[in-house]
Amino acid sequence: MDPRRGVPRTDTVLAEPRIAAAVDRLGRDLVKATVAAAQDRARRGELPVDHEAVVGAVLASLPDTATGLRPVLNATGVLLHTNLGRAPLSAAARAALDLAAGTCDVELDLGTGGRGPRGNAAIDALLSAVPGAAAAHLVNNGAAALALVAVTLAAGGGDGRREIVIARGELVEIGDGFRIPDLLTATGARLREVGTTNRVSRADYAAAVGDDTALILKVHPSNFVVTGFTRSVGIEELTGLGVPVVADIGSGLLTPHPLLPDEPDAAGALAAGATLVTASGDKLLGGPQAGLLLGAPGEGAELVQRIRRHPLARAMRVDKLTLAAFEATLRGPVSPTRAALDADPAVLRGRAERLAGSLTAAGVEATAVGSAATVGGGGAPGVTLASAAVALPERYAAALRAGEPAVLGRVEHGRCLLDLRALPVEADQELAAAVLAVGAGRAR
Ligand SMILES: *Cc1c(COP(=O)(O)O)cnc(C)c1O
Repeated sequence: MDPRRGVPRTDTVLAEPRIAAAVDRLGRDLVKATVAAAQDRARRGELPVDHEAVVGAVLASLPDTATGLRPVLNATGVLLHTNLGRAPLSAAARAALDLAAGTCDVELDLGTGGRGPRGNAAIDALLSAVPGAAAAHLVNNGAAALALVAVTLAAGGGDGRREIVIARGELVEIGDGFRIPDLLTATGARLREVGTTNRVSRADYAAAVGDDTALILKVHPSNFVVTGFTRSVGIEELTGLGVPVVADIGSGLLTPHPLLPDEPDAAGALAAGATLVTASGDKLLGGPQAGLLLGAPGEGAELVQRIRRHPLARAMRVDKLTLAAFEATLRGPVSPTRAALDADPAVLRGRAERLAGSLTAAGVEATAVGSAATVGGGGAPGVTLASAAVALPERYAAALRAGEPAVLGRVEHGRCLLDLRALPVEADQELAAAVLAVGAGRAR
């Protein structure tokens, strides 16, 4: 008999109430494609050729949401993992996203019924968090903030000055092949490089500043460290050269953190005399992807207003979702990133021991071990944070990545380490269940 004859028809499968509910949730195209895949499997003999089996296979392979993105538990010990979307959002920020996802008063004055200023609440939250700033603006990411500064102040706009003075040791590649010097010159600005890879002095800057200088740019080397015979120049030393000093601090740390003494912060950069500060929203600030622009009182605030009115500012404008999540990150409880940074190593050790204990009791070869976590590409290069992990046989790494939810650990010395520093305690149960599911899969 032709095996295809018994395969349930698409219409019949789609009419099944549980599948129809999935169509309401996920859309017809996605569900139909999943039905087609299950029918193919039945034709190939991988599934019994009956209605219940095909419906069951469809339901089992339908995603929870209409996105191909899958949640991943970050057990890498890298707090800000670029491949995992950097900072996870706080519950408060997620709730704000949900609210903003509908229609909201992002640009409406409910008192008058007329147009209101867009995103003021987020800017107010930022200015409250950094009282040393007199004006602020938000764009899509840190790179956009820098580009907007360069295109407004240095690309022949305004007074026609074109040069950005920058130290050679600060010509940074951010990642994925993107380089800050290329980004700056793409706007039409010219770079005037000073110093050598390892050393630069105030005199180098002073000699380079001239009639064509639009600004001095200080870029934080946020993903590498240079040690040995080195010297850089602080912001304080660069004020007084007669041009604005722009500090790209990178990580978005707003105030100093005791564990990260070398990581620049926005308040500190402004206090040191920076005219403008740029930073990312989704690194140590712990919020959504965004670029921050902060202006010091006086010239800095005026420059922020000029930057906001540049035609390209509209092309880099953040959406209402970002505004909502950003504000809630600043006004709400401690962000997950900050909580991970502040986690007590002894508490992490206790969690690792409890997890390893319960896994061992279930027959998994698991031990609690000490571990070293890092901030990641988002900042604080070279800094390690004391942490704790559950060590499993190496083969768990791939199986955990394929699980639901996927778990990303770290393979080290032939073991799969699940580092707990970047995970909240609420995730421990889910983590244990994921490991047990892998163990059970192997036993079958
Ligand atoms: C991360 C970073 C950037 C780029 O910011 P994005 O938000 O990723 O666009 C620019 N400068 C520095 C110093 C950085 O660390």
